[in-house]
Amino acid sequence: MASNAKLNFNPSKNYAESLDKVDPLNEYRNHFVYPKGKIYLDGNSLGLMPKAAEEGIQRVLTEWKTLGIEGWLEGKIPWFYYAEHLGKLCAPFVGAKPEEVIATGTTTVNLHSLVSTFYQPTEQKYKILADELNFPSDIYALRSQIELRGFDPQQGLVLAPSTDGNLLDEDQIISLMTEEIALILLPSVLYRSGQLLDIDKLTKAAHARHIPIGFDCSHSVGAVPHFFDAWNVDFAFWCSYKYLNGGPGASAFLYVNERHFSKTVGLRGWFGNNKKTQFDLALTFDQAKSAGAWQISSPNTLSAASIESGLNIITEAGIENIREKSLQLTQYFMNLVSHYLHNPPYSFSILNPIEEKRRGGHIALSRNAEVYRISQALKAHGIIPDFRPPNIIRIAPIALYNTYSELYHVVQTLKNIIDDKEFENFSDERKEIS
Ligand SMILES: *Cc1c(COP(=O)(O)O)cnc(C)c1O
Repeated sequence: MASNAKLNFNPSKNYAESLDKVDPLNEYRNHFVYPKGKIYLDGNSLGLMPKAAEEGIQRVLTEWKTLGIEGWLEGKIPWFYYAEHLGKLCAPFVGAKPEEVIATGTTTVNLHSLVSTFYQPTEQKYKILADELNFPSDIYALRSQIELRGFDPQQGLVLAPSTDGNLLDEDQIISLMTEEIALILLPSVLYRSGQLLDIDKLTKAAHARHIPIGFDCSHSVGAVPHFFDAWNVDFAFWCSYKYLNGGPGASAFLYVNERHFSKTVGLRGWFGNNKKTQFDLALTFDQAKSAGAWQISSPNTLSAASIESGLNIITEAGIENIREKSLQLTQYFMNLVSHYLHNPPYSFSILNPIEEKRRGGHIALSRNAEVYRISQALKAHGIIPDFRPPNIIRIAPIALYNTYSELYHVVQTLKNIIDDKEFENFSDERKEIS
């Protein structure tokens, strides 16, 4: 297993504690409500609550109480501009201009909105290229978009195959960028294996073939820096409740490269109107000259308040510092697995790519058998990872609130679960959400 030059790995508990002591981000754990007695490793599914979220939401509730409708212009952050305000806060994390990012809708709704704009099929060029490892919601949405344009989704959706069921190969994806492809939509980080795709390379290849390309960055924004403008990506979208800690079901984000501001929005609504004329309430749409044009409806102000608190923490900590610590945490965890859990009877393996530039924020830990029951045994010990069928335990050490000592403890617990065959006490029957 590759080792990180910055980590001089040593398998002792003291070593983990010494890393925590010199961790420049260690104070940020105090900015979150950390569940008592637990080790939370699921921040890539639902980030923990920033303490400031409660105050933020309370502030908007008070504004609602005291200002009523006036809150739209007189709130501390005027509600009318809240989505733009969040866009401005989030833009530096993705290498975009403030007006290219907006908080709106939800992840899958934003996918629909952007695809309905950028997918302009013709009889000859009508296919969408995606990949077979993508999140199911994205695939359902793409098929429905193809159907809505009168094409057969069976023919119209090309899914780049995985080399091994876990990873994708960029060159193979590029080889599928043929004349028939009208649009490409790919993930930044694969939700199961944690592979980080080469967005720059894929975008260059797509543009060389005159194909617009967009990315679902739900699993990377807040963990990995992005450079959408420099890469010249056409569009992107991401949720706010994973690494951005915006809260369950909070509004999502989208990015539209400024060279597309004059494109006609596919799914129009009144919040996409130029703000100066929106309240003229004319029946002709005066499209905003910003990513804000892709808003459909009023911003969700309560969720905006909690998202804002999460974004402020990341701004303060610095996305580059977060990435650096995240890489060290995941490297440390892989080193521990290789030291303690690789050989039989443990027999764990790592499915995510090892190289830094190809891995996102989480580890895909695997084993031939009993993975679900092992994940249940971990939960019984107060350790919260998540399970992705058929054989992956995702471990997401979050730079803002997880520690090296926690990872040490998790690996020792896994070792005990196998030594004592503890997993045999758990049922194989899956719960609705695991
Ligand atoms: C989390 C996630 C989603 C979530 O979709 P919602 O519409 O927010 O429920 C979509 N795509 C990917 C890749 C995700 O990781």
